[in-house]
Amino acid sequence: MTTEIYLDGNATSPVLPAAIAAATCAMGQRYGNPSSSHAAGLSAKALLDQARQCARRLLGVGEGRLMFNSGATEGIQTAVLSALVALRERREQGEAIGSLLVYGATEHKAVPESLAHWNRLLGLNLTLHKLPVTAQGTHDLDALRACAGEAALVCTMAANNETGVISDIAGIQRVLEQTGCKAYWMVDCVQALGKLALNLAATRIDYAPFSGHKLYAPKGIGMLYVRAGAPFTPLIVGGGQESAQRSGTENMAGIAALGTVLAALERGDTFRSHAELEDYRARLADALRAALPGIVFNNPFENSLPTTLNFSVPGLASRELMDVFDAAQVRVSSGSACSAAKAAPSYVLDAMQLPLWRSAGAIRMSFGPLTDAAMIDDACRRIARCGAALRTGCLIPSERHGAAHDGLLQMGVEGACSWLVLDAASRSCVLIDPLPDHTARIEAFVRCQNYRVQAILNTTAGQQNGELIEALGRHAASRVPADAYGWPALPDSVTLAQVQSVPALKLGERTLACVVDGAQRHYLLGQAAQGQLAAAAVRFAFSNKQCAAALQGLTGAATLLCPSRDEQNQFCAATTAAAAVCCDSLQLDHAGLSQLLGAHPDALLIDVREDYEYAASATVLPVAGKVQSVPLSRLTEHAADWLTAADSTLVFICRSGNRSLKAAQCMRRLGHQHSYSLTGGLALAALAQAA
Ligand code: PLP
Repeated sequence: MTTEIYLDGNATSPVLPAAIAAATCAMGQRYGNPSSSHAAGLSAKALLDQARQCARRLLGVGEGRLMFNSGATEGIQTAVLSALVALRERREQGEAIGSLLVYGATEHKAVPESLAHWNRLLGLNLTLHKLPVTAQGTHDLDALRACAGEAALVCTMAANNETGVISDIAGIQRVLEQTGCKAYWMVDCVQALGKLALNLAATRIDYAPFSGHKLYAPKGIGMLYVRAGAPFTPLIVGGGQESAQRSGTENMAGIAALGTVLAALERGDTFRSHAELEDYRARLADALRAALPGIVFNNPFENSLPTTLNFSVPGLASRELMDVFDAAQVRVSSGSACSAAKAAPSYVLDAMQLPLWRSAGAIRMSFGPLTDAAMIDDACRRIARCGAALRTGCLIPSERHGAAHDGLLQMGVEGACSWLVLDAASRSCVLIDPLPDHTARIEAFVRCQNYRVQAILNTTAGQQNGELIEALGRHAASRVPADAYGWPALPDSVTLAQVQSVPALKLGERTLACVVDGAQRHYLLGQAAQGQLAAAAVRFAFSNKQCAAALQGLTGAATLLCPSRDEQNQFCAATTAAAAVCCDSLQLDHAGLSQLLGAHPDALLIDVREDYEYAASATVLPVAGKVQSVPLSRLTEHAADWLTAADSTLVFICRSGNRSLKAAQCMRRLGHQHSYSLTGGLALAALAQAA
């Protein structure tokens, strides 16, 4: 079985084997409470002291405080609380404190959220002020200079988690000094630990939070540095642990593990050098350039952590890139918050003023300093495989004409979709309601499959398809006179009742007829007999919205309605009322699937991942049974066939269980009562199989 390649080190890391051993020892043998005065307690206390001493040396803490806590989010809270409490006291004593809580526009959300929270709770009423960054992602020092005089607290980061961009900490310090700024200063050092040299006491930094799980220690352990003389207020009080700075019995397993990682850093014999890591990144970047034409990197390598790459590919959504990498067992993350079909842009890349397609389509690839050359080589091979898979799937430009797809293809974007009606035999196709968002995708698809677009049709008048026609070039039929809906040469006077007489479009054996319905158009697809498209022969009806009533008499019982507005992600609908769907009854876990296959050995497993995911996937499916690949974008075409065998059992599968659930729900709504979805998808099935 292919092993996973983990390239999401900025999100978290696995735990160093020596750190696991240290944590196990702290739990199994040296389990005492470091506050106890007996031998078991003293043994735990020695462990705690050793870890702290190592951290103090490594971070150059000097006379400052260094406390263990649960992670950076807690460290940020503590720093903000400490600064704001001190500011309130100073203000109450009549001192002028500045009115601004300044934070970098690309800070982790924990920073502005904490500022807003404590500002409100403490009743300070200071103004949160977002400090812009340059196009290169570093803090805008002129903007800082302009607001420094009014700043009460300044929050910046040492390196950014999405882009790896390294901040100009010395430059920020210079501005604060030159402007005589009295503000407290927090620097979020989470992504810097182990990757940038730190000597905190030699700087003006007041607070620096750290998180263990970004550098091979477990989750739930972190540290906070507080400069000697900087104000401090504990966030948690109680038993007085950590010199009463952070009460609660210490997380000794976490501290032992973090101490082991820090000791390895200090020794310098475990992690790769900066130069080696830069070489690894260059190799990954070369592999990406070769695999993904047009790729642009969103972080300037010369000023970023050597372990981070952030990129976008024209015409590809981050969801699609994530899916293809995941299929190849390469774990990366989208630089942005993804929803099902469309990603929200990344606020970090937005702050760098990158165009929307880059900030919404960004992928972050990040690795830790424990990575080795063999792993990078393997990652490069898999990147090449992902590129080939995307090319085969016609998602990226390819002049190699792949096997032609035939039938219906549905491209969806939240609540709307474009329909492609494809006839492989004649290599001609018709586009219905193409969305501007899909221009690049449709162009890549049509070119790569060498299709000729006979017509670009709309269900409502006046849609602008000029850009698409331009993009299609020689693949678009030479301009034939068309009406405002794109329909070639339709007489003006046709009415609903006269539909049979309307000249139809021929797509190989298929016939596409047009129905005029006031300002709307509907298009009916089926096999005509003697030049007539009978209602019973209509397989698909394309409309703007679902409107079975308008098509009564023109469609048959088996016709599927294909709306181009699809708010509920329903794909298609029957002409009769939708059947009720109970979500619980259609979800199967791995054991449920085995049971079902025992009872129905003929059940068909339908993998609804897209072709390119299938092509990129190197593993055999972790499920037994008869498997058919039907990408979700082609569900409607196949739904019509499955409905003719209503007694068959269908189990939909996908990567995580989301898409398969939608497919099973669609089939149930259409009246196919034996449709199921594998919960948790292939990811959980693989785990269940391994167990
Ligand atoms: N700051 C930065 C830059 C981060 O990357 C993270 C984690 O992603 C945090 C703060 C919060 O760390 P934690 O979730 O470990 O508390």
